[in-house]
Amino acid sequence: MLSFELTIDGKAHATGETFDVLNPSTGEVAGRAPIAGKAELDAAVAAAERAFKTWSQTADDELKAACEAVTAKIAEHADELAQIITAEQGKPLNGLGSRWEVGGAQAWAGYTAGLSLPMKVLQDNNEGRVELHRKPVGVVGSITPWNFPLMIAIWHVIPALRTGNTVVIKPSPLTPLSTLRLVQIMNEVLPAGVVNVVTGDDGAENLGGLMSAHPGIAKIVFTGSCATGQKVMRSAAETMKRLTLELGGNDAGIVLPDADPAQIAEGLFWGGFINNGQTCAAMKRLYVHESIHDEVCAALVEFAKTIPVGDGMDEGSILGPVQNRMQHEKLSRLVAEASEKGDVLLGGAPGEGLFFPPTLIAGLQNGDSLVDEEQFGPALPIIKYSDVEDAIAMANANPAGLGGSVWSSDIEAARKVGQRLECGSVWINKHGMVQPNAPFGGVKASGIGVEFGEEGLEEYTNIQVLFS
Ligand code: NAD
Repeated sequence: MLSFELTIDGKAHATGETFDVLNPSTGEVAGRAPIAGKAELDAAVAAAERAFKTWSQTADDELKAACEAVTAKIAEHADELAQIITAEQGKPLNGLGSRWEVGGAQAWAGYTAGLSLPMKVLQDNNEGRVELHRKPVGVVGSITPWNFPLMIAIWHVIPALRTGNTVVIKPSPLTPLSTLRLVQIMNEVLPAGVVNVVTGDDGAENLGGLMSAHPGIAKIVFTGSCATGQKVMRSAAETMKRLTLELGGNDAGIVLPDADPAQIAEGLFWGGFINNGQTCAAMKRLYVHESIHDEVCAALVEFAKTIPVGDGMDEGSILGPVQNRMQHEKLSRLVAEASEKGDVLLGGAPGEGLFFPPTLIAGLQNGDSLVDEEQFGPALPIIKYSDVEDAIAMANANPAGLGGSVWSSDIEAARKVGQRLECGSVWINKHGMVQPNAPFGGVKASGIGVEFGEEGLEEYTNIQVLFS
């Protein structure tokens, strides 16, 4: 049984009560996490405020070295962390699963450690010298979701540390264990109070809500649903917090008439089904030109049939269960509604427990719930179109604007279509491939701000201009 305490001010912090964390593959209890309330949050913020006094004054190369030390710690504990992720999240150890997630966390941490935001001289002449400095904002509150618990924690924490901020992180109550362990490991190489973790069950004392309103927290970096992101924004207004909001998506993929169905099938599948579709920037709607629609559907079905689905701990599994009951119920409803209107090409009915087989449903259109709503699971709606202009209009006719993709043998033609999509990232002949040197974020309802690269790092700083 996995069981970890909070880490506050560099020390293990016991709370009287705990809550169960379930293994989605088996339904059994995978571990227990502490229930923290306002008192623990206040203690964590106070510790981070104290640590900020020194950490914010630390030399840039020391901040870099500290982030590199954290990266080395992740590498040292890679297997242990992967096991914890699979136990609580359900994704397989194998494939694009938990080992891959830990590898990604390590790669992001290492790359981000190497970034810096040096002072810029804006002017230096007889009229004076003007310098632009980047200053840490203070205590950063990080609120993470359950789909990539470790990777997203790293996406939040490392840029904050690298720019001289201190952190209080709160993982999803569905996947708190890997973050609790990660913060323990980080604290082996960081000064006390620089990274603190609190966990709770979203019950009476909603920790995320308390964090968004907390006067000691200067910035919230939040990854999660649009609805919760709006709540964060509302409660952050009072204290004028800096915000990075990475919210939900409903990414469209558009297959142009000249694409080769056999060549793109594997990429299309993983674009939609990475992490069992529980990925913010997964392809969640697929628009296919009528001239190759049937061939694309057939190639997708053929590839999807080769993917083994099973218990995440089983080395043979490439996809696992859906992570939680609420998500499974939402997916079941959307697929049931879509099945009445469209043609179920594969899957279509819930499996045992939280399992749900990869599902492909054609014959749908905008206005159908599986197309319009974010399914966040292994079911892809396919929409036939005859005019590319219509496909672009349908892709853009959604409040979300996270990512999009265009599939074609003519890269230039695809790039032109891609640039007309209303979203923060566009991929040609692939989907959802984020990387640490490229800013990533949503437009429209998908959020505010970006992560990754120098632009992502800047979000953890305030500008101070020095005129002399
Ligand atoms: P969620 O919004 O339910 O929860 C996210 C976090 O917010 C959790 O830690 C939760 O405990 C916390 N929370 C709950 N109530 C809160 C409140 N009132 N104030 C502040 N925080 C509160 O999201 P989820 O179900 O965990 O994650 C799935 C969603 O996240 C999907 O919509 C997905 O698209 C999105 N997502 C977006 C990105 C991105 O980078 N854009 C990445 C991953 C997931």
